[in-house]
Parts: sequence; C-alpha cells; structure tokens
Amino acid sequence: METLLLKPSEDNTAIRKAAELLRQGGIVAIPTETVYGLAANALDEGAVNRIFKAKGRPQDNPLIVHICEFDEIYPLVRKVPPAAKALAETFWPGPLTLVLPRSDKIPNNVSAGLDTVAVRMPSHPVAWAIIKESGLPLAAPSANISGFPSPTAAQHVQDDMTGRIDAIVDGGECEVGVESTVLSLTGEVPVLLRPGGVTLAQLESVLGRVEVNEAVLNPLKEGETAASPGMRHKHYAPKAEITVIKGSASQIAEYVAAHTGNDLAVLCFEGDEHLFTLPTVTFGRENDAFSQARGLFGALRRLDELGAKQVFACCPSQEGVGLAVCNRLFRAAEFRIIEIR
Ligand code: AMP
Ligand code: MG
Repeated sequence: METLLLKPSEDNTAIRKAAELLRQGGIVAIPTETVYGLAANALDEGAVNRIFKAKGRPQDNPLIVHICEFDEIYPLVRKVPPAAKALAETFWPGPLTLVLPRSDKIPNNVSAGLDTVAVRMPSHPVAWAIIKESGLPLAAPSANISGFPSPTAAQHVQDDMTGRIDAIVDGGECEVGVESTVLSLTGEVPVLLRPGGVTLAQLESVLGRVEVNEAVLNPLKEGETAASPGMRHKHYAPKAEITVIKGSASQIAEYVAAHTGNDLAVLCFEGDEHLFTLPTVTFGRENDAFSQARGLFGALRRLDELGAKQVFACCPSQEGVGLAVCNRLFRAAEFRIIEIR
C-alpha cells in the first residue's frame, strides 16, 4: 500500500486529507505532544483492527481514545467522576490519560475486552485539528512496530510504517517525547498505571492520595496479571541488549572501561561523552528530566543505527518526569539493572 506523507501548512490541506482518510476507515500517523500516534476511528472495529495489524500489536493491549472537547467523553464512558472533571480542567489538553468504565459504543478491540476505556485530549495543535476536522474520537497507540521504541519524529514513523498505513502527518519532533501518564479512576483510590509527562506530584496536587501500580518500576512476577496490559509486554526495546547502571558518571565510566569489544556502546548524558572510550549516544542532560524524556526514544533508535549489540546506560533520577524516563528505560533493558556501590 502507498503511504502518503502529509505536511501541515497554512491552508489545512494535510489536516483535511488526514481527516478524510480517517472518516473512510483508514489509519493515519499523527503528531502529538507525547509521541506519534497511529490513529483510526475509535467507533469502527474494522478500522481499529487495521491498527493492530499494522503494528503487530498483541490483541490484549488496549488503545487510548483521543478527543478534542471535554463533552466528547460522555458517549464513551458510563460514568464521569468528579475527579475526572477536576483533572481535565487542570491537565487537558495534555499528556494525561484517564481510565474509566466504558460505554457499549466502544468496540471490544479498543478496550482489548476490558470493561474500561482510556481517554485523553492531546494538546498538539495538529492532533487537535485532525480530531476536530474528522468529527470522530480517534483510537491511537504509538505509531511504531509493537515492542520497538516509540516514534518521536515523522522519520521514525516512516522507518517503521511506510507501506503499512494510509498516511503520515509530519508535525516535527514531539515535545514531551514519552507516552502519556495513564491514571485509573475506576476504584476507590486513583491508581497511576503508567508515568508520563504529567507527574505523580501534579496528580497528587489535584487528587490527594494516588497509588502507584507496582509494575511502574518493577517487572511483573511470574503469573501476575497487569492492571495496565501494556506493562506485560517487552516494550520500547531496541535490538541492542541494554544494561542500566546506577552510579555516578565516573563510577560507570570505570565499570565500562573493563569491557572491550566491537559492538559495545554507552547511553549517557550530554557532556559526559568524554568519560568513555566506547562510542556514546546521549539522551538529554543529567539534571533535566524533560530533556531526557524528549531524547530517550530517538537515542534508542540511534543505538540500533550504530549497530550496537550491547549497551551500558547511565541511570536517570526517578524524580518528576524522571519516573517516566526510568519506566521506559528499565523496560527497554528488560530490567537488567546493576548498582555500583
Ligand atoms: P501506547 O500508548 O501505545 O503505549 O498504548 C496505550 C497503553 O495505555 C496500553 O499499553 C495500556 O498500558 C494503557 N491502556 C489503554 N487502555 C487501558 C485500559 N482500559 N486500562 C488500563 N490501561 C490501559
Ligand atoms: Mg506503544
């Protein structure tokens, strides 16, 4: 299949074309402030199935439904608790996804058979305009091949999806760089299922107590079921085998210096490259979690381009948005984590 490459311009041709393809049941990659999403009409089970096929996504991994006005949430869910309204007032449009009891309008495959649906309102002007122009709620997971690093630039989507989807809308680089924060509002206490651009402290400032699901920073134990099914799968992983090392940059440099070989590389912070003799790829500055979030997925893709087979990664702080960076990096490393004392 031919994949159209659309560039938004002042006359809105790209946005109109993307919306038209979506109304016809097509699948279109769109820029959002988190990562590029692969969108389809969330109310069309057949169109949603094409997303699963194009990504090679396991059927048990549900999708997030994207809307552009708060009131569009009502037909999608059975209940809108006061907490959802308060959060939307503070964080929408933005990188926060709310999990709520789903209505019977939501096709089974969107929710992967669960009784809940995840909803978010993106702030990226192009995503917002495409939802508005299509007049549809759009189901959209990240626009990458399942399991690989999420795409934060149109080029990443082209690399993974050319020939598999109807169009790619190029909106430049994503500002946040990691997927949205996912919060469940289905129980007594709100539960953070996936950290993202909206931090735990920000959620607590609106809600008071928020529980953090175990799977955020720990691997699932044998036989355990995931509250957020995405956490069950190997995720975000480049081809290289990554080991995360906790310690200061100089301690890590000393540890790494004991390893030699052709296919080794280091994933480190900007400015620390000179500490290492192995090839380095950077992902933001050490004391700036936002820059790490923006840089991580692109850096993982660059490691593959380098042909690295084994990568030593410096461990970021878990504070603020750093929790999301660690969540993604630990999964990319399949929880190979070493602590230097
Ligand atoms: P993606 O943004 O591509 O990583 O995919 C969406 C992720 O949101 C899934 O992997 C889940 O972890 C989470 N999610 C979506 N719908 C639900 C739901 N109904 N309940 C819990 N988590 C969900
Ligand atoms: Mg994804």
